[in-house]
Amino acid sequence: MSKLDIASLYLDEIKEFFATLGEPKYRAEQIFKWLRSGITCFDEMTNVPKKLREQLAEKCYIATVKPVQRLVSKIDGTVKYLYELHDGEFIESVFMQYKHGYTVCISTQVGCRMGCSFCASGLGGLYRDLTASEMLAQIHFAAKDNGVRVSNVVMMGMGEPLDNFDNSVRFLNLVSDTEGLNIGLRHISLSTSGVVTGIYKLAELNLPITLSISLHASNNETRSSIMKVNKKWDINELLKACKYYQGITGRRISFEYALINGVNDSIKNADELSKILKGIMSHVNLIPVNPVEENDFKRATEENICRFAKLLNDRGITATVRRTLGADINASCGQLRRRAVKREEE
Ligand code: SAH
Ligand code: SF4
Repeated sequence: MSKLDIASLYLDEIKEFFATLGEPKYRAEQIFKWLRSGITCFDEMTNVPKKLREQLAEKCYIATVKPVQRLVSKIDGTVKYLYELHDGEFIESVFMQYKHGYTVCISTQVGCRMGCSFCASGLGGLYRDLTASEMLAQIHFAAKDNGVRVSNVVMMGMGEPLDNFDNSVRFLNLVSDTEGLNIGLRHISLSTSGVVTGIYKLAELNLPITLSISLHASNNETRSSIMKVNKKWDINELLKACKYYQGITGRRISFEYALINGVNDSIKNADELSKILKGIMSHVNLIPVNPVEENDFKRATEENICRFAKLLNDRGITATVRRTLGADINASCGQLRRRAVKREEE
């Protein structure tokens, strides 16, 4: 019998489970609170009777992440973690220090099925979805390891959060719970490569998170050549979904644009981009592409990056060049895991 992933459950679900054990509701509340504090085993629940702790340990498990690698940037203190999960899979997280607070970038899947050609996470396909508790564990660990309160989360590590919709939403509800990490939804960004059906579903929930769209191209030809998701939902459909999302939530949408030398960094591209984003309350994040061993994309030159940002801003589209944190520990998401998996295969 597989054990119950208790740290992914909502309070009501724990209450239902406890009713089957013949335990009172207040115990469910007590346990929910302990789980939200980021404990890693039932014996840490000191005000819960030993017998119940044993019963819980028999029927349930608490998801944890085990650090197997920890890289610290000498430039800005950014910490990059490679974690091993209970089944031997690996994921990555990044802990960053911004002016507005400590931020953790979490993974939402092991691998990714979207297969964007510039990204290391998608190279081996999707291995499995992460549970909400495994997403939470990444934040609890980073907070404890650095001895701080984490105030911001970005769902921009490995994986496509909207391809793991239910667990991602469960995560959002649990991470913002006042009994737990209490990270406000306004301080959370969810990044998607453009899973249009997921954007419509998310719109219906009307959460005050920031939706971030990985656009990376100004026309369908280029986008389809680097992001196969564009063959399923093209730029037109994607931006239609964005407008719908904005209509419901009233939130500004972020567009990620990784500048790749000779691929999407021309004046024509900046022109096209400014045209397609007209009418959307947006913010464009320009990121020099992070070269990955397995492909030969090169980052755009400083000159082209500045030119691109200026062209957009001149045309009324707010664009900023994203500061790269942890430049010396490089390894954009997916690269540490890839190396670890390769090592195991050797
Ligand atoms: N799957 C989601 C979220 C995870 S990827 C998504 O694609 O949006 C997080 C961000 O990193 C995305 O904007 C993605 O396009 C970007 N990214 C992936 N590989 C990159 C690389 N080599 N250089 C720069 N950005 C990259
Ligand atoms: Fe998946 Fe995002 Fe990487 Fe594309 S960029 S392969 S969607 S993780």
